[in-house]
Amino acid sequence: MNRPNDHRKGQKECRIKDLHMCQLCASIDRVQAHHIFEYAKGGPSTVEGMISLCLDCHQRMIHKDSNIRIKKKENRITTFGRGGN
Ligand SMILES: [Zn+2]
Ligand SMILES: [Zn+2]
Repeated sequence: MNRPNDHRKGQKECRIKDLHMCQLCASIDRVQAHHIFEYAKGGPSTVEGMISLCLDCHQRMIHKDSNIRIKKKENRITTFGRGGN
């Protein structure tokens, strides 16, 4: 289940799918794949389970503020919780 190759492949496919663009702010600077469902909690290493975020959004919005969550549904991205602006 936890094969690193799948993980890498998923991240790569995710970035390609999202055109190497942050799905929150549309930045193309240092975009990386973020797990919508935490990898540590068994989130799938698939394109569906990931979203492309720039380093800024990734670090500041997602991981530092645990109240912010991203929901991705049929290509629509919704953030909810406290934070931002
Ligand atoms: Zn961003
Ligand atoms: Zn992340």
